[in-house]
Amino acid sequence: MQNLKRFGQTIYAYSLSALTTFKIGGPAKAVVYINQEDNLLELITYLEGIGCPYFVLGKGSNVLAPDKGYEGVIIKWISADYSWEEKDDHVILNVGAGMKIAKLLNLCLQQGWEGVSFLAGIPGTIGGAVAVNAGAFSKSIGEKARRIKLFLPSKNPEWLNWDQTRYTYRLADIPSLGIILRAELELELSDPAIVQAQIKKHFLHKKQTQPLFLPSAGCIFKNPSQVSAGYLIDKAGLKGKKIGGACISSKHANFIVNTGQAKAADVLALMEFVQEKIEKETGIVLEPEIKFIQ
Ligand SMILES: Cc1cc2nc3c(=O)[nH]c(=O)nc-3n(C[C@H](O)[C@H](O)[C@H](O)COP(=O)(O)OP(=O)(O)OC[C@H]3O[C@@H](n4cnc5c(N)ncnc54)[C@H](O)[C@@H]3O)c2cc1C
Repeated sequence: MQNLKRFGQTIYAYSLSALTTFKIGGPAKAVVYINQEDNLLELITYLEGIGCPYFVLGKGSNVLAPDKGYEGVIIKWISADYSWEEKDDHVILNVGAGMKIAKLLNLCLQQGWEGVSFLAGIPGTIGGAVAVNAGAFSKSIGEKARRIKLFLPSKNPEWLNWDQTRYTYRLADIPSLGIILRAELELELSDPAIVQAQIKKHFLHKKQTQPLFLPSAGCIFKNPSQVSAGYLIDKAGLKGKKIGGACISSKHANFIVNTGQAKAADVLALMEFVQEKIEKETGIVLEPEIKFIQ
């Protein structure tokens, strides 16, 4: 492999445990931080040319990385610049997908923009949030995204309209090799004090109900229709169940936390244990919400 530094800041043999909120995973061949579309195109053309796999990572807060590491390149799209246009009672915010949700909320708080305060406490990037249609309190970011700018290896980047056919619960209809470069979010003009109160309310609720400060990847399983995965796991008496260093949170049964030295193998074994028990007891098959770097 050639020197990747010409595409962007590069760190070789970088541990995935340092790039994911689960704090699990062996080294990737390299991680490349990119904020120019030209460089992204050149890097992907190069990697595809030499047959090297790659994985696009945001903040790594919804993924599990393998213990043996990743024989490929992690691409971090870090463009986070923004501009906005006010229209009557709302604002259209055009933002780089590398912006962290915390920064977006800070901006909303300063400007008095309402519409995404339900994202408080979610530790991701805009790109990752749109890719998995992140949400909470029965709302999701898909409802706020008007357009997204998508990169596909074979095409010039293009803006896609993002109507309601494009997203469902924790799923966005994006081609598998698509990389979200930017998003246009439609937010309402409000009062900074109201926005602050909303963000605080949502954050406090999450803090009370989720293990926000322990290493995890958020909810492990998607909620089946009608009932929450957390309720089923709790009812099965699995809070506190541990395999190796992976443990079902006693605060929220749909979170697996890394108690210190967890391996990906521990998390996978615990997930399988939960799935088998819940299926045996209820007939419901729990589907992973987290993504796997592979
Ligand atoms: C404590 C905690 C609480 C959480 N609470 C919630 C919650 O309430 N609701 C919720 O929905 N989630 C929650 N999560 C999960 C996670 O934070 C969100 O899903 C978040 O939006 C993921 O963003 P990310 O940048 O970390 O994505 P990553 O984890 O880095 O990636 C997730 C997926 O998106 C893809 N991706 C990332 N960036 C791009 C891009 N630019 N273009 C294309 N694909 C991309 C990746 O390839 C991967 O498949 C929580 C996680 C934690 C640790």
